[in-house]
Amino acid sequence: MTLGTKLVAGNWKMNGLRADGSALARELAEQMVAQGAGFGCELLVCPPATLLSDVGRILAGTGIFLGGQDCHAASKGPYTGEISAEMLVDLGCTHVILGHSERRHGYGETDQVVQDKVMGAWRAGLMSIVCVGETQQQRQAGEAVEVVSTQLVGSIPNGAIPSLLVVAYEPVWAIGTGLTATSEDITAMHTEIRARIPPGARILYGGSVNPKNAAAILGLAEVDGALVGGASLSAEDFRAIAGCVRVNAATLADES
Ligand code: PEP
Repeated sequence: MTLGTKLVAGNWKMNGLRADGSALARELAEQMVAQGAGFGCELLVCPPATLLSDVGRILAGTGIFLGGQDCHAASKGPYTGEISAEMLVDLGCTHVILGHSERRHGYGETDQVVQDKVMGAWRAGLMSIVCVGETQQQRQAGEAVEVVSTQLVGSIPNGAIPSLLVVAYEPVWAIGTGLTATSEDITAMHTEIRARIPPGARILYGGSVNPKNAAAILGLAEVDGALVGGASLSAEDFRAIAGCVRVNAATLADES
């Protein structure tokens, strides 16, 4: 994991039976081999917990990182249905998504709950991808920066380790809707976030990133990568999104 290198992460959410997950992972692995020199960025996939073992085996040696979509704060104990950070590491995970809006809004996860989970992830050595983002109503009320700032303060433990912290700015209204924030709004929010997190921690944008808009989003100086939901379920689309990083880097080199 190299700070400064862009990260393109796929959140498969609750999608895929074993055959589907394995087929998608095989396609991704083949693309990595075909790509030769790689994509010029780090790639991460976060399948459902039931697929981690199979997908991890298929991706082993490809350089594509494996991550969980959530974890419990404790390492073990009487928490029926939960999975600990240590269990994710045991399956080969290096990353975990925490505080996704679908958990904050769907399961009432508070900033404190997210912070406890981040502590659990760090205890196990997992890179935490901490999601923050405002609702449409909050943006329209001019509260977006305040909301995100409160989430950051509440969700990120003191003494954060930049090498184990990634923040994903995901406006709630842009997730799975086909709507994306404008380049200006993304840059403005990422600048606000950067001022509030330890230097060196990366900031991803998430919210309906697809092969058509990825070049523009990933080309923004303030954007260190993307968290991709729906489009990560297609190996071709995920490859096309990741491919935008190298194209952007080549364009910058030509211009200098
Ligand atoms: C997400 O769930 O983190 C996400 C960004 O989803 P989508 O790309 O489908 O909007």
